[in-house]
Order: sequence, then C-alpha cells, then structure tokens
Amino acid sequence: MKAIEVKNLSYAYPNGTKALEEVSLEVEEGETVAIVGPNGAGKTTLLLNLTGILKPKKGKIELFGGDITQMSNIDISKNVGIVFQDPDDQLFMPTVFDDVAFGPTNLGYSKEEVKERVKRALTSLSLVGYEEKCPHCLSYGEKKKVSLATVLSMQPKVLLLDEPTANLDPRSRAELIKLIKKLKGEVTIVIATHDVNAIPEIADRVYVLNKKIIAKGRPREIFMNFDLLRKNGLDAPEIMKLFYVLECFGYDCDELPLSIDEAIQELTRVVETRDGHIHLHIHEHTHKNMEKLRKLDHHD
Ligand code: ADP
Repeated sequence: MKAIEVKNLSYAYPNGTKALEEVSLEVEEGETVAIVGPNGAGKTTLLLNLTGILKPKKGKIELFGGDITQMSNIDISKNVGIVFQDPDDQLFMPTVFDDVAFGPTNLGYSKEEVKERVKRALTSLSLVGYEEKCPHCLSYGEKKKVSLATVLSMQPKVLLLDEPTANLDPRSRAELIKLIKKLKGEVTIVIATHDVNAIPEIADRVYVLNKKIIAKGRPREIFMNFDLLRKNGLDAPEIMKLFYVLECFGYDCDELPLSIDEAIQELTRVVETRDGHIHLHIHEHTHKNMEKLRKLDHHD
C-alpha cells in the first residue's frame, strides 16, 4: 500500500517564494526514502506539506489513500509525525515527560495509555531516567533524541525526519543512525538530509529535489551520477569516492561500495578471489575520470 502519494504539488510562501513546483512522489508503506537537495531546495517545505502544517497551493497529497485536505489534524497526526531540524522548535514543556506526553494526550488517550506510550518511547531511545529533566537544559544530541521521542509516543505510521543528523557530534550521529536503522521497517520513514554518507545505510530510495523532482532511484543509481550530484549541490559518500579513485587507477571493482560495510565485503572478495592482490596502474582514462571526481568535489 502507498503510505504517501504526492501529485503535482506546488507551494509558494505568502511572500511569493516558489518553494515547490509540480512535485510528484510516492512512498510505499515500510519504505525508507531520502529526500536530498541543496539548501533552499524545498525539503522542509515538502515535509511541512506532508503534515498538513502547510496547505498545498496546487496538487494533491494522499496519506494511505486519503486526501490530506479532508483529514482532521488528529487523523493526520495518527498517520504522520515530524521531527523538526531544530529541537528547540519541538520542545516547549517544562519536563521531558510532559513533552513526550503532549502528543498522545492531545490524541485523546487515557492517562494510563499516555504513561505507557511515554515509557515505551523513552525506553526505545535509551532515555529512561530523563523524565523529570528540563528539555532545554539537555545537550543538543539529547534534545534531538527527546524530539524523536515526542513523535514516537504518538506511534505514527510515517515518520518525517528533517536533517536528523545535522549538527550532531560523531557519537550522537552514529547513535541516531542506529536508531533510524532500528525503526526502519517498523514505520515508514521519509528523511530530508544532506548527510550523503548516512544515506546508503538507511535509505531504500532517494529523490533529488531542487524545487522540482530532478531524479529518483536507488542510492547507487543516484550516487553514480556525479554530474547530477554536482548540478544539484550534492556530494557522494566518501568511501565511494575513495574506491572511485582506486578504480581510476585500474582497480577492478564490480560495484563501488557505498558504505564501510560494503567496502569490507568488496575487499574480502579481493582477498578470497585474488589472494588480496590489487594491481594499480595509470591507464588511458585515469586522469579524465579523475577530473569528473574533482569537479564534483569542488563543484565547479
Ligand atoms: P530546504 O529545507 O531544502 O533548505 P526550504 O523548504 O526551507 O528548503 O525552503 C525552500 C524555499 O522557501 C527557500 O527559498 C526559502 O528561502 C523559502 N522559505 C522557507 N520558509 C519560508 C517562509 N516562512 N517564508 C518565505 N519563504 C520561505
């Protein structure tokens, strides 16, 4: 079943800024889809339209087959929950418990049910013991997790994550990626992100958005297209670029690895099938192919 179907969605802000033009996309139930694009590409605007916070100026949005404009706010909240990029936009109650309880309380659940949902959300994010803390006194990484808890406690069918790994230190980033991987499959996830290194691990499919939908495909199809990435202010995963450099120097790779795990698989294969020997050399296309990567890296 389609969790989300967007048809020819256009959105302009009251000051006339056209943020989205004729955007169409589909997300199947259970899928994890990444929306990538440069700053100002309309990613946040798209997510806000999917939550009913912004109303489409033109086009249609369906959530599980129902027209979003015909749904009440409570019905929308049961279907989709959004984790904003800035946790200060999400957290406004005096305690973590109150913030995480806010959503399910508004959905009309009993006190007992609310308590149970808060407990479940905090447990899944390793936040037990934080109940009475003041959300604004927490570290950025903790705030980010509490923000996620405020949405998980509503148990939405679709989770919208706006730049979930932005501004996190490496440990908090790794923890958040792990959490997203754990949620993957349990809920449908749409992630707006610049974090290209995280995408191969978490996303089944990618849409490139730059006001319009520029391209869609599996992470591999998108990342192999350096020209597309460069034109849209994007990057490829670092590990993939390293193997691309090796390939330019004659390394024979079936498929460029997109993640560390894939690189380990690839090198294990080399050890098993070629005794670990890699023969590097400069060939006719080495410098020409390297130029493509340089252009992507410098965006010129
Ligand atoms: P992204 O999330 O991809 O960075 P946004 O959806 O935030 O992009 O912004 C898309 C465009 O809409 C940008 O040109 C931005 O300046 C503009 N925009 C965003 N929010 C507002 C607003 N509240 N009022 C007017 N223009 C806005």
